[in-house]
Amino acid sequence: MNESLIVADVLWHGDEIFEIQFERNGITFMPGDCLALFAEDGRESRPYSMASGCDESIVRFVIRRMNDGVVTPHLATRTPGDYVKCSPPFGWFKPGQCDGAPFVFIATGTGISPFLSYLRTYLDRPPVECLYGVRVLKDTVDIHWLKQQCHVKLCVSRETSTEYFQGRVTDLLEDMPLSKDHHYYLCGLDTMIDETTKWLEKSGVNISNIHRECFFNESYSA
Ligand SMILES: Cc1cc2nc3c(=O)[nH]c(=O)nc-3n(C[C@H](O)[C@H](O)[C@H](O)COP(=O)(O)OP(=O)(O)OC[C@H]3O[C@@H](n4cnc5c(N)ncnc54)[C@H](O)[C@@H]3O)c2cc1C
Repeated sequence: MNESLIVADVLWHGDEIFEIQFERNGITFMPGDCLALFAEDGRESRPYSMASGCDESIVRFVIRRMNDGVVTPHLATRTPGDYVKCSPPFGWFKPGQCDGAPFVFIATGTGISPFLSYLRTYLDRPPVECLYGVRVLKDTVDIHWLKQQCHVKLCVSRETSTEYFQGRVTDLLEDMPLSKDHHYYLCGLDTMIDETTKWLEKSGVNISNIHRECFFNESYSA
């Protein structure tokens, strides 16, 4: 059954990335779960991964605005008090749910969302490392908070950075904690997910320890 959420706030992280916050409205979910959020016409929808902790009083999403998109321009222009139609929670990606085994998060762009949800929910069970890739530094979401929660390696691909690694997350795979017993959670751009999966498998990690959620295809988002 579809319902609606009431917008509490819209915050911007840079020019293209925004965080839309809704009043909780009794929604229950696990880190990694999504809602489908609808366009103005109430017919077209897209899935979005929740970025909030499971016990927060608000439900947050971190979203890249696509100028010619159907849903994101609508969401980006909402104001507090507006209603947005949504689906019930759903999802198969379960970051950190690996029976106590050590795990690594690897995100590009808004692919950080399910990992934010995890870290906001399980404060005492961090990943051994979080690789986080953005195009430009101002696209980062809550980086100072993230760095307090776990060991974060931030990669900036499209501008010079003196503070952080300049390049793609896949340039840092060689330095990532590697073990057949670790689990790897990959979220964001398809090319990062494909390249990282191939590299992990070549390095001896079983595919059952590699968990993936693809948000974008490089050809769409270039
Ligand atoms: C499980 C899941 C979770 C997701 N979670 C998030 C999230 O938390 N945050 C987030 O930012 N995004 C997330 N996404 C992506 C999101 O669902 C939308 O795809 C994205 O926001 C674009 O929606 P839109 O309606 O604005 O754009 P669309 O109307 O879908 O178009 C986006 C762009 O792609 C182009 N395009 C679309 N289809 C094609 C095609 N077939 N061929 C070529 N070009 C095409 C359009 O021209 C446009 O430039 C998630 C996706 C999945 C599958």
